[in-house]
Amino acid sequence: MFKGLDSLLLRGRRPPLAVGAVVAVLLVGACTAAVYPLKQVTSVSSLGVVYLLGVLVISAFWGLWLGVATAVLSAAAFNFFQLPPVGQFTIADSRNWVALGTFFVTALAASSVSEVAGRRAIEAERRRAEADLTAEMAQLLLAREGVADALAMIGMRVAVVFELPWATISLGTHGEETRRQTIGLGAGEDRVGTLVIPAGLPAHVVGRLRDRLVPALTVVVEVALERERLVAEAVTTEGLRRSEAVKTAVLRSVSHDLRSPVTAMVTAGAAVRAPELTPSERDELGGVVVDEGTRLARLIDDLLDLSKIEAHAATPRLAECSVEEVIDAALAAQAPDAAFRVRIDPELGLLRADFVQVERVLTNLMANAVRYSDGEQVVIRARPVGDRAIIRVVDRGPGIPEAERQRIFEPFYRAAAQGAGGHSGSGLGLAIAKGFVETNGGRIWVESTPGQGSTFVVELPLADAGR
Ligand code: ADP
Repeated sequence: MFKGLDSLLLRGRRPPLAVGAVVAVLLVGACTAAVYPLKQVTSVSSLGVVYLLGVLVISAFWGLWLGVATAVLSAAAFNFFQLPPVGQFTIADSRNWVALGTFFVTALAASSVSEVAGRRAIEAERRRAEADLTAEMAQLLLAREGVADALAMIGMRVAVVFELPWATISLGTHGEETRRQTIGLGAGEDRVGTLVIPAGLPAHVVGRLRDRLVPALTVVVEVALERERLVAEAVTTEGLRRSEAVKTAVLRSVSHDLRSPVTAMVTAGAAVRAPELTPSERDELGGVVVDEGTRLARLIDDLLDLSKIEAHAATPRLAECSVEEVIDAALAAQAPDAAFRVRIDPELGLLRADFVQVERVLTNLMANAVRYSDGEQVVIRARPVGDRAIIRVVDRGPGIPEAERQRIFEPFYRAAAQGAGGHSGSGLGLAIAKGFVETNGGRIWVESTPGQGSTFVVELPLADAGR
């Protein structure tokens, strides 16, 4: 019960005066009724104390003035209904004058004490709400991504807690206008923002905002802005670091990958001149020149394709093309001893894509699958799903660990794959595949169970999608 009374007292705002007046009359009536039975056991002059209860309640909830009015009403009722002669406002016995006077003075004192307690309760409640608001501001500003978003929310909360029609907080300074006034957050050069509130607010409200809200708000906004600046700086530094790292990787890879075939060709070319070579030795050296030359040509093609993709210059020549024909073309480019099984859903329609680019995608995926599956058969499946074709290249190789499934599509990234037989690729095949799939409006990803194999999935738009 006391808890309920506490929370009523601590509400911070008084109930309407009209309600107070009605309650005061009812309480005086109730106290009057309570005095009748008590008169049987004690002298009536000491019973004025009963009315104090009503006076206390009214002044605690409605303040001093209604408390005083209740005291006057109680004194009148006490005199009229209880003190002899009953039914008149006169008093026969002078001792009862003393009783009435004492009651009245006590009621006034109680009323003002109760009013002070009520005010303190309201003040305590305000301070608690302000402390909560400070904590909330810190939480909003430090948890959110953008300071501006958080400030909009905080403005609304300030308006609620300080009972203002509205309040906004802006970063930077703000000119005064007729319908608004501003309080700076921080002074001079250190000013971080401005609290904008309606003009014409009572001075004590503006004082409260200035003294109790603005210092805390300034500190939290400063910290949040500093954090935002540090995050932005970290992002830029990370971006620069990454682009530097990519450039270094490109240079290292290009210089190594270009140099090794050139060295092999120069060495073989020089050796082939020696007069004492047998025809089969000469033939072998010729083979080295051709193989290394082919490798070099492929690498240069890869680098050119990748640079076109990265420069967004790999514009696809979109046309209707048959999935079966693209798969056949990609199969023709594979090693003759590689084992493939192809399954194409008869329902699958035509693609709307650049034939050469998609062929390149499948060639790279198939070559990887063969390379990593150690002689096991590679399965190619194609079927429609809605308005898209799904082509899967399934191998039974070592699989790809979860942590590497995104990164293998980055240029020059070579995962530490087991069972690759010492293969040293350039790390460009999947980056080019991803680039071409995306320029054709598709997606590519890998599904894999390490130890059991990988499935590279290509999703491309079908030609009749829009019909
Ligand atoms: P690379 O020329 O090195 O093969 P890719 O871009 O084609 O370059 O592949 C990047 C990396 O992805 C490879 O180094 C390899 O570790 C991994 N990878 C690609 N395909 C497979 C596969 N089918 N099975 C296992 N790992 C694969």
